[in-house]
Amino acid sequence: MSAMSTLRCVRCKKEFDPRKITYTCDQCGETLDVVYDYSAVAEKAQRSELENRHGSLCERYRDLLPVSDNAVAPGLGEGQTPALKCNTIGDGLGTPNLYVKDETRNPTGVFKDRATVIAVAKAIEFGRRTVALASTGNAAASLAAYAARASLQSVVFVPEGTPMQKVSQSIVYGANIVQVRGDYDQTFDLMVEACNQFGWYNCSPAVNPFRTEGKKTIAYEMCEQFNWNPPDWVVVPTGNGCNLAGIWKGFKEFHRLGLIQETPRMVAIQASGADPLVSAYNKKVAVLEPVKANTLAGAIAIGRPRNFLKAFISLEESDGVAESVTDDEIVAAQVLLARNEGIFAEPGAAAGLAGIIKLVEDGTIDRKERICCIITGSGLKDPESALRGSSKPLIIEPTIKGLRAIRECTLTKPTRHVCTAFLPTIAPH
Ligand SMILES: *Cc1c(COP(=O)(O)O)cnc(C)c1O
Repeated sequence: MSAMSTLRCVRCKKEFDPRKITYTCDQCGETLDVVYDYSAVAEKAQRSELENRHGSLCERYRDLLPVSDNAVAPGLGEGQTPALKCNTIGDGLGTPNLYVKDETRNPTGVFKDRATVIAVAKAIEFGRRTVALASTGNAAASLAAYAARASLQSVVFVPEGTPMQKVSQSIVYGANIVQVRGDYDQTFDLMVEACNQFGWYNCSPAVNPFRTEGKKTIAYEMCEQFNWNPPDWVVVPTGNGCNLAGIWKGFKEFHRLGLIQETPRMVAIQASGADPLVSAYNKKVAVLEPVKANTLAGAIAIGRPRNFLKAFISLEESDGVAESVTDDEIVAAQVLLARNEGIFAEPGAAAGLAGIIKLVEDGTIDRKERICCIITGSGLKDPESALRGSSKPLIIEPTIKGLRAIRECTLTKPTRHVCTAFLPTIAPH
């Protein structure tokens, strides 16, 4: 049974009844945090008990999730992603304890599925038949899939000009797609108003207080995967900041329950063209100064992070680090990860690795420490930017002579030893 006790404003601490739909604080407008009665969970939260639990994400962690027993959304096999050791990149960088948690393997190719399954379960619990959100890509596709699975209607709002390849997944899953003549902020505001008027359940990241709870299962799984001794550093590519805050919450909870002795230091990596959290944190002032996002890493192209405060607090509490990386560094990391470890990440998802390279080289992260990077989403979702760091294959005549010509000029040798000197040079966009 869920041990959820209340919803509490992250800023002014006002509390709200979790059995009613509330998105943000009516007093100060800030996001809400789900609070649990941990004493009710303590007895059952034993390492051996958790290791022996099987089933879906909701079933395994039900007591620490905000879902009631009888209204759980049908899952699609989300979560339970592997933590893989990166020996080749580790050799090149001189970091023998480098890992990635490969979230590209979630049902729609992105960690957001962990949050969507919770949001859809809440919609069912609240008796809503239609779920909605504003997004330009991954969150929309994820919602469309889980709504289809649960036989709910979904409405996804996207700003005009959103590339079709980004919304094609949502189209096939059968979402109602509303294209808005306006930017992301206007689209978002319209969606909020529509949810209020038509009774649609708002599943948007940050304003839906329950989504974060799904993301904390990344931390739960890591505790188990690292034999209850989680890594020294957990590196998260960051846009709205929901994932970073969710993962940190998971570690904090398992620490509080006595399941782990030490918590990791959290690292937020943003694209240098959209890094308001990095700027604020490095000035140590929890005030958001929005920017106009300018980066090819679409998933983290957020100029006004909607979970700013939760993310900022997570960095503070974990003695964390925030760093930004350029688009060239991101594309180079994407290629490095694919060529050396066989993992195809979208640019936003590869940003964490670019950040690790930078932080190891400037000495912030000690090379011997245990580092785990969250690879948030699959490169298949954004094929266009993937090809920026690679050359397109040549077409030849069907003759051996033609084949010899490519062998001589372009076939790349597999690189066993990698370091940053091997990073490809990126042509100017
Ligand atoms: C949404 C997303 C992010 C950013 O997560 P936030 O919770 O917004 O910080 C990073 N990578 C991918 C692939 C995403 O889809």
